[in-house]
Amino acid sequence: MLVDVHNHFTYYNEDIDRALVDIRENGVLMVSVSIDIPSYEDTLEMAKRSELILPVFGVHPINAHEHMGQLQEIRRIADEALMLGEIGLDRMWAENPSHFQDQEKLLETFLESAQRHDKIVILHTAGAEAEVLSMLNTFSLRKAIIHDFYGPMKLVERIIDSNLYFAFDRSYLEEYKPEIKGWQERLEIANMIPDDLCLIETDGPNKPPRRMPFEALNIVAERIAELRKTTLEEIIACSSENFNNLISGNENLSQFTDIMRRS
Ligand SMILES: [Zn+2]
Repeated sequence: MLVDVHNHFTYYNEDIDRALVDIRENGVLMVSVSIDIPSYEDTLEMAKRSELILPVFGVHPINAHEHMGQLQEIRRIADEALMLGEIGLDRMWAENPSHFQDQEKLLETFLESAQRHDKIVILHTAGAEAEVLSMLNTFSLRKAIIHDFYGPMKLVERIIDSNLYFAFDRSYLEEYKPEIKGWQERLEIANMIPDDLCLIETDGPNKPPRRMPFEALNIVAERIAELRKTTLEEIIACSSENFNNLISGNENLSQFTDIMRRS
């Protein structure tokens, strides 16, 4: 079974029925993150339609400042959720530096919940990679997936030493342009992450080109296979095994380990 460890499934909107058929026919488990309470509610609804949707609760750091009045509610929902994401910090796309404090407050709320209930977190790290890893350390959380990571290289060692899972995404597909930050480094990162920490994701379908889940994930897997000088099958197999290892032993996620075993 293939596993897309980070996608926004509800964004398929008018194509949602087609996307549901696609994941069923091709056997793709969709770890479906959310960016606020309404999008989490939509994701929960979607999970009722397919056992291949794993609903994940998060509030995107870019919008943190809009949710400061909701921390109590966020804490309550986070405590009940199966996994937490997309959460984190953002110094790359967030425009107003005065919002950074709100981002930290919000991330703290999620990490506290993760620590209380030993939950897996999916971390957006763009431009704030060092800060996210430091905060993670203060909470001594071990089960995390690193998403939207752009360096610096010395932090890759820290990710590996801390046994954090690394999600390869569509940014590895980009053609070289000098203005893309860390493009060369990405090629190195693709080879540094050990097999047992590799995961794949699409972050889809909100970024173009819009494709059905199976094809979108295969395109990423193919590129990572090329960069790591291995086969597509190998990348798919090891990322599925890694995700299975990540969730196994977690009672609340046993239905998903069962699905993966059956496939
Ligand atoms: Zn995302």
